Amino acid sequence: MSPQGQDDSVQQGPNSNSGSSSSVGVIIAGSVTAGVFILLLIIVILAIIVRKRRTIQSFNQEKKMDMEHDGASGVVHLPNTGGLPGISRMMLTPVAENSPRNSPLAVRRAVAYTAQTAERVKLENQATNIDQVEIGRPLGAGTFGEVFYGLWRKPEEEGYASIEIALKKLHRSDKFENFREEHVTLRQLQHSNIVRYFGVFMDHNRHEMYLATEYMKSGSLVDLLQILSGKISEEQMVEMSLGAALGMSYLEESNVVHRSLSCRNLLVSIDDSGHYIVKVSDFGNAKCVSGDKRDFVASDIIVPVRWSAVEVLRDNVFSSKSDVWSFGVCMWEIFEKGKEPWADCSDFQVSEWVLRGDRLSCPTDCADDLYEVMTSCWQEAPEDRPTFKDVVQLIGGVMTERQREKGEEEEDTESESEEEGPSAASRLQNGRAEIDVEDDEGETL
Ligand code: ADP
Ligand code: MG
Repeated sequence: MSPQGQDDSVQQGPNSNSGSSSSVGVIIAGSVTAGVFILLLIIVILAIIVRKRRTIQSFNQEKKMDMEHDGASGVVHLPNTGGLPGISRMMLTPVAENSPRNSPLAVRRAVAYTAQTAERVKLENQATNIDQVEIGRPLGAGTFGEVFYGLWRKPEEEGYASIEIALKKLHRSDKFENFREEHVTLRQLQHSNIVRYFGVFMDHNRHEMYLATEYMKSGSLVDLLQILSGKISEEQMVEMSLGAALGMSYLEESNVVHRSLSCRNLLVSIDDSGHYIVKVSDFGNAKCVSGDKRDFVASDIIVPVRWSAVEVLRDNVFSSKSDVWSFGVCMWEIFEKGKEPWADCSDFQVSEWVLRGDRLSCPTDCADDLYEVMTSCWQEAPEDRPTFKDVVQLIGGVMTERQREKGEEEEDTESESEEEGPSAASRLQNGRAEIDVEDDEGETL
């Protein structure tokens, strides 16, 4: 609109003939420019296509030479795949394996695929038949796909035993390597704070594979904390932290690096006396390290940024000390009752802040000595962080301190008055019974 309130297009309207002839000139000039531009574009595209063709031809030539190369440096015979489609018995020279020029990506992929298929066939043959299991409701989902509840009727000498299990289904074959890693890691672990492993189950009709672990009634710790929505005592949170630290200390001793420790991957059940038992689970990204080698570099996983140590974010270096960092974040999640670390921030921002020295702030109502345990796990240099063995000691120290304080408090209250009802300390002790919540079916979670 013009300042006078008239429409601009009306002002320019029919009065001007010179305006219309100059518009025709502009259109012609525009068309010529566009034509030249399109021509140039076609020439560039053609040049790219010709170049690509040449590259493919020389690549195929090299590949042919690789495959024909034989004898001079010996041959490597790959395992027979048992007649699996597309992969017959192959031979590959060590030269082709080592030199980038002689090692086309396609050949290396075929080698990995063949080895993996052979592993899968081996695992399928060792697996227990799924028809021993009654599969129930879904329990959760993660990278592999769904996890189901199952009732395993395990054959015994007389009759069978009924065992509640959780079945993690492998639903994408490109995740087989993680599935196998989890199987290999889990079968060598046995600890009261590590989820118990029952082995691989196979549905031969549907060609589906499952990993079976003990069923953890209260599910993942992050879900439980959110359900309890703050109705949880400090004592219980300290106990949960200790359970996770004990499981991780056992992993540290066993030279296993977990690499995805978080409250999502900690599971919970309740023992006979009503205590929450926390167990470490989800070993899909776990790696065994050799005894003298404490850390390793790997870029094979998508790192959980909010739980990752500085050396993981910077250089993809993993070790038990990077797990210690993640443990500190788990403790933070516990004392923030299942809140997401760095909520409302992008992974990129989190990474930038953590690398420049920022850390998660003290959770609401969390005591200083417990926050100190967390911050000790987030020391910049891995060697300055405690080991998991130390973390267990540190948490144990806090527990002892609380016991002492409770004892003193009880003594004071008793001497003041015996008629004022139960002390704060004894209420805390009885707290577990008071805070237990019930699920829809009236069962304690
Ligand atoms: P993924 O490797 O795909 O992340 P997880 O092992 O972490 O799989 O399991 C995904 C979810 O399934 C968990 O967060 C939990 O809610 C549920 N779940 C897994 N294992 C069990 C189990 N043993 N008992 C009860 N729930 C389980
Ligand atoms: Mg998981």
